[in-house]
Amino acid sequence: MSTETRTGADGAVGAMTPRPFRVTSHRQETRDTWTLELEPVRGAPLVARPGQFTMVYAFGVGEVPLSVSGGPVSGGPVSGGPVSGGPVSGGPVGEGGDGQLMHTVRAVGAVTEAICAARPGDVLGVRGPFGQGWPLRAAAGSDVVVVAGGLGLAPLRPVVRQILRRRADFGAVAVLAGSRTPDDILFRRELAGWQDRADLQTLVSVDGGQPGWRGRVGVVTALLPEVHVDPARAVAFICGPEVMMRLTARALVDVGVPADHVHLSMERNMHCGLGHCGRCQLGPLILCQDGPVRGYDRLAPLMAVREL
Ligand SMILES: Cc1cc2nc3c(=O)[nH]c(=O)nc-3n(C[C@H](O)[C@H](O)[C@H](O)COP(=O)(O)OP(=O)(O)OC[C@H]3O[C@@H](n4cnc5c(N)ncnc54)[C@H](O)[C@@H]3O)c2cc1C
Repeated sequence: MSTETRTGADGAVGAMTPRPFRVTSHRQETRDTWTLELEPVRGAPLVARPGQFTMVYAFGVGEVPLSVSGGPVSGGPVSGGPVSGGPVSGGPVGEGGDGQLMHTVRAVGAVTEAICAARPGDVLGVRGPFGQGWPLRAAAGSDVVVVAGGLGLAPLRPVVRQILRRRADFGAVAVLAGSRTPDDILFRRELAGWQDRADLQTLVSVDGGQPGWRGRVGVVTALLPEVHVDPARAVAFICGPEVMMRLTARALVDVGVPADHVHLSMERNMHCGLGHCGRCQLGPLILCQDGPVRGYDRLAPLMAVREL
């Protein structure tokens, strides 16, 4: 199949047209999850803000939204500015990040299985980046709590890396990572490196232990009382299953973190990425554009409506 890309008169690639990206590395994270690094076959690298997603196309199979789990990033913190639950806009500030576009993918169906099966040299289509990322710039000067459930660590990994790159811009920082079993823990070596740092509190918990596991057992929300941050000056970034995000956000608000300082990534069913098809509508929000990251102040009333 041809991977030629249609370009407009000005040479810009249409937002609905995937650009060909070559897989440069393929690493198995867990039983069902792989991390791929991708470079454009031609043209500029894809630069995303932490928390944004791309639409990745396995040619002949289909296209799915995937969070950026690493690579060139923009939108680093600058001092000042209110912490708000609304979208973070503005041009790229604090260019940084590392390596190539990275996606961490769990094989759950036809498209993700095809993407996970891609090997170095194979070509996938990529559109984007899309959506609102984590409001990291606005979090400068604050304490930060990052809470990840399972694969939710993928879109939060660039946040932690960006914070560590500019560690002096933030107060106390805690990373809480939960997974179903010890075998499901993502980015193990990196997590171990974070646990070794004195300037970062990293707690890992599993829902169910296994022989040989000597770490914490229990849901990730149970770790919150151990976190050393000042709730009144804390900003939280949460990604995981919706029930986990709801419980975590509520628990943080209950201890005094302002609701508009608590940010969640709502991974509803994105399709066009451009706000046109309405597939990812949540009440008044079109999440591919208004999200996936939004403040809990805005999301709480919507999340309370069953099956919205
Ligand atoms: C903004 C966003 C970011 C995402 N980031 C990642 C990522 O970084 N890594 C990753 O592995 N996945 C991510 N996903 C989920 C991923 O898009 C789905 O797993 C994928 O669409 C499934 O397609 P499929 O054809 O492989 O399986 P399908 O046959 O479409 O689905 C297989 C199973 O997965 C369930 N499923 C499908 N889509 C979702 C979804 N959005 N959330 C929860 N369950 C779903 C289906 O209900 C079904 O049970 C993200 C989704 C969104 C909206």
